[in-house]
Amino acid sequence: SKQNGAGSDMPEWKKIATGKGDMGKRTSMSIKDQRESLPAFKMRRQFLDAVRQYQLLIVVGDTGSGKTTQLTQYLAEDGFANEGMIGCTQPRRVAAMSVAARVSDEVGCRLGEEVGYTIRFEDKTSDKTRIKYMTDGIMQREILLDPELSRYSVIMLDEAHERTIATDVLFGLLKKTLKRRPDMKLIVTSATLDAEKFSTYFNECPILSIPGRTFPVEIMYSREPESDYLDAALTTVMQIHLTEPPGDILLFLTGKEEIDTSCEILYERMKGLGPSVPELVILPIYGALPSEIASRIFEPAAAGSRKVVIATNIAETSITIDGIYFVIDPGFVKQTAYDAKLGMDRLQVTPISQAQAKQRAGRAGRTGPGKCFRLYTESAFQSEMLPTTIPEIQRQNLSNTILMLKAMGINDLLGFDFMDPPPTNTMLTALEELYALSALDDEGLLTRLGRRMADFPMDPGLGKALIMSAELGCSDEMLSIVAMISAVQTVFHRPKDKQQQADQKRARFNDPGGDHLTLLNVYNGWRGAGHSDAWCFENFIQPRNIRRAEDVRKQLVQILERHKLRVVSCGRDTLRVRQALCSGFFRNSARKDPQEGYKTLVEGTPVYMHPASALFGKAAEHVIYHSLVETTREYMHNVTAIEPKWLVEAAPTFFKVAGKDGTLSKRKKAERIQPLHNRFAGEDDWRLSAQRRQG
Ligand code: ADP
Ligand code: MG
Repeated sequence: SKQNGAGSDMPEWKKIATGKGDMGKRTSMSIKDQRESLPAFKMRRQFLDAVRQYQLLIVVGDTGSGKTTQLTQYLAEDGFANEGMIGCTQPRRVAAMSVAARVSDEVGCRLGEEVGYTIRFEDKTSDKTRIKYMTDGIMQREILLDPELSRYSVIMLDEAHERTIATDVLFGLLKKTLKRRPDMKLIVTSATLDAEKFSTYFNECPILSIPGRTFPVEIMYSREPESDYLDAALTTVMQIHLTEPPGDILLFLTGKEEIDTSCEILYERMKGLGPSVPELVILPIYGALPSEIASRIFEPAAAGSRKVVIATNIAETSITIDGIYFVIDPGFVKQTAYDAKLGMDRLQVTPISQAQAKQRAGRAGRTGPGKCFRLYTESAFQSEMLPTTIPEIQRQNLSNTILMLKAMGINDLLGFDFMDPPPTNTMLTALEELYALSALDDEGLLTRLGRRMADFPMDPGLGKALIMSAELGCSDEMLSIVAMISAVQTVFHRPKDKQQQADQKRARFNDPGGDHLTLLNVYNGWRGAGHSDAWCFENFIQPRNIRRAEDVRKQLVQILERHKLRVVSCGRDTLRVRQALCSGFFRNSARKDPQEGYKTLVEGTPVYMHPASALFGKAAEHVIYHSLVETTREYMHNVTAIEPKWLVEAAPTFFKVAGKDGTLSKRKKAERIQPLHNRFAGEDDWRLSAQRRQG
């Protein structure tokens, strides 16, 4: 696809069109034919008429019917993009990128020209852009800058059934915008049958249904509960491959590690069988995968071979792969949920809902009659799975969202028009967090600091650490650290066959202050080496990731400058960096436990130093951490050694020095830091009354 110049980001339809694939029908189809064969095409006229007639419209249609890729184009073809852009939100970054690439191909333009996308820290749009895909988080940010959304003529809230927090909040925000912009149109699309509920919420607006084109799917349950779903899943893949007729396989797993491991195991098992068995093309797909690899999943397998796509629940509704006849569903998903024991959000592997199970099975019936292997019993499906998934807004931490709403001038949170309001306690926890961070004042109103924090597209703690670092004279350092943490999962490269070597190289960057300063050492090393790739290879650093961090860093510098915050270096005095980190992460503090590991200061929960940490095996008494990662135990990730008194300085409304009665020595006092807050405060809580006063 070089001739249209977008390089490796382009999807692979051209290979489908010219390649040696055995999917006869598809290989010969032109883009026009492909577009016109989608179920959405039959509804084109009706859709456009409805959009002309109504300001608000709900569109329901099975996954793969063409909602995401076609409706935006119909609108543009019909003149809706003449006065303003067509904006389409996606809950996931990968979906926004892959769909934009696909649509730019269908339109016949370079990605970033008439069709583009924007995700956090990455903008592939231009003055020419008429159709813009973006994450729902980006759309929220755009409303923060321009509540009227004056650059847009139509907004499509896509994949609304996913019910992400950002989409849920956009429901309420856009309802308001529509009142002020009678010329603007809003389309809400869903792949599931909750359309009535959407319609009720959106002023009884009309619903347009795209008739499906699905085939029956035979459901097979496990007879007994599986003790090891991963092993069961891989065995099922092999069984299908060796005994079932042609047709590709889609396996749902929970995350990157699981998927990568499974790919390796399958590869080995296939190798063990020798050349007599047909080829099995093994393809992973998850959020963090580079887009060039991700687009390979759309290529049909060559004649005589079979493809197995191993995916997170991204393939449940966001991405549609043609040619799937077999679905393997172990019944789990990894999702973020608030963990009261830890006082923070955590990724957890949980059972899916019945609605998700049905959606997954449906993926096998798009090309012909299919089969779905459920690796759980029928009674587990009936009695242990919830009918529908609980929306994110009811299970996750809301401090980010509430900070954003406050920054939009929305103070009456209890009165906000949520489709499903979050539990009051969740709101209170978030308000309390923002108060402790000094983003809100005693009245629950946004402070100047809070307004600044809202402008940083990241966890409020990171935003605050960055702002405070400007005051503490170490923003040059903090910029590098924050960029490294928020741009990528890791910059370290640890290939399976060279782990020891990689660990040794990594250890050379270790800083006695902890992992944040270690990251700084890496960044400075790379900067000192003139951003060289050779340096990266030598030091087991992923060049692509550190370059991305550099790009994010530049964008953060711009935000600092907009707020007239200085970029200053503290040189060797990196103690200040650790102090500045405390201002954002005092909540994530832990103290060494006399027995083993650490205990969090806030909830007293046992946590452990990650073996990869620079502080592993060191004597750090008090630490703060960026996040917790659960594997066999609760591990702290990105840990920094601190002095307990910094916590009191950083959050005087949150921590106090214990032993005020004078029985403790001064040194002891400084060691005994206690949280002040009471998370089980009742209805007369000040935050609630503050909200009522404003409501
Ligand atoms: P919906 O939004 O209704 O789920 P889509 O518009 O995403 O449907 O998909 C319509 C069709 O376009 C599907 O058959 C899908 O396989 C195809 N498609 C989507 N993205 C790509 C891509 N990047 N490469 C090839 N085909 C794609
Ligand atoms: Mg879609």
